[in-house]
Amino acid sequence: MLNLSARTAGFTDSVIRRMTRISSQYGAVNLSQGFPDFNPPQALLDRLAEVSREDFHQYSVTWGAQNLREALAEKQSRYMGFPIDPNGEITVTCGSTEAMMAAMMTVADPGDRVIVFSPFYENYGADTILCGAEPIYVPLTPPDFRFDPEVLEDAFRRRPKALILCNPSNPCGRVFTREELEIIAALAAKYDAYVITDEVYEHIVYAPHRHTYFASLPGMRERTISCSSLSKTYSITGWRLGYTIAPPEITDRIKKVHDFLTVGAAAPLQEAVIPGLKFGQDYYDGLLAEYTRKRDLFLGGLDGLKLAHTTPEGAYYVLLDISEFGYDSDLRFCEDLARLAGVGAVPGSSFFREPVNHLIRFHFAKRDETLLDALNRLETLRAKIPARPGAPA
Ligand code: GLN
Repeated sequence: MLNLSARTAGFTDSVIRRMTRISSQYGAVNLSQGFPDFNPPQALLDRLAEVSREDFHQYSVTWGAQNLREALAEKQSRYMGFPIDPNGEITVTCGSTEAMMAAMMTVADPGDRVIVFSPFYENYGADTILCGAEPIYVPLTPPDFRFDPEVLEDAFRRRPKALILCNPSNPCGRVFTREELEIIAALAAKYDAYVITDEVYEHIVYAPHRHTYFASLPGMRERTISCSSLSKTYSITGWRLGYTIAPPEITDRIKKVHDFLTVGAAAPLQEAVIPGLKFGQDYYDGLLAEYTRKRDLFLGGLDGLKLAHTTPEGAYYVLLDISEFGYDSDLRFCEDLARLAGVGAVPGSSFFREPVNHLIRFHFAKRDETLLDALNRLETLRAKIPARPGAPA
């Protein structure tokens, strides 16, 4: 048999998705892959039921149903702070996963360089490989996960085509300050690079932090492809609805890439999500209040167990420091954690370019009872997973 593609030969399966399978194998409370176990808003479920009896069973417009793009443009203009043309500047995609891939394929040729902050959401590595691009990793250094502007400028000196910016950031929970974003913006302008954002947690930003849309910074609109999703905002990760917002010349190309990649997102689901986009500010306030409460509940529980962890400024992930257990493989620790203590987590090493092995990621987008069940199980952690000899006390 001929070889399969060299480009994909180094692919492993997604560790995030693998940990979900391992969690179910051991009956663990799955705090690995980030998705809610509570229902989407009732208005979406009601509309979904109606839609099955209406005429939405064939392809919609390739780049997104007209009424969905109009609702998205209206809502995102309000939050992003500039007018967005539903016809020329929006492409609806199959989740933000496809939005990012389409953005990357639109911007990068084989051999082009792309800056990726590390730690990073694992798809970005695969996206660059699928484009034949070369990632330049710039560390966000724990514990505060800030970048060194000098190191970032060194990366820009290598003339990257684009920088990928996940803000609020998965997995480290950073919400970049306006000053940090202005540093990135100045470098993107100076070295003439595109910025591809992943802003799927745009509405999950804890006080006093504030989300600044990168495209809203002076001069950045023309070079930014904003990618986001409806998954996290409306608790519908399985509906696979995402989108890009970019200037017309870029969107024109994204539409073509998207058309050949997937043709389009599921028509009935595009229709059913529209009531969500029409929600007022009270919905987003309520969503944030719920996640703030969950964050406090879960982090408070970890504090009670004296487990050291990060405090996210946004998104719904927390990194737990497992140094005390003395494992040299965080993947093995996560397997033991699922098997022996019954809680699913993602090994931190799957997010870091650097050799970081002492962090694991939990998410807290779960019902209170699920979080409390996980905390109960974690109470037995030290008994079930004793520290290895030589581990720090
Ligand atoms: N973004 C979520 C996470 O990081 C879900 C990822 C996925 O599997 N699409 O866990």
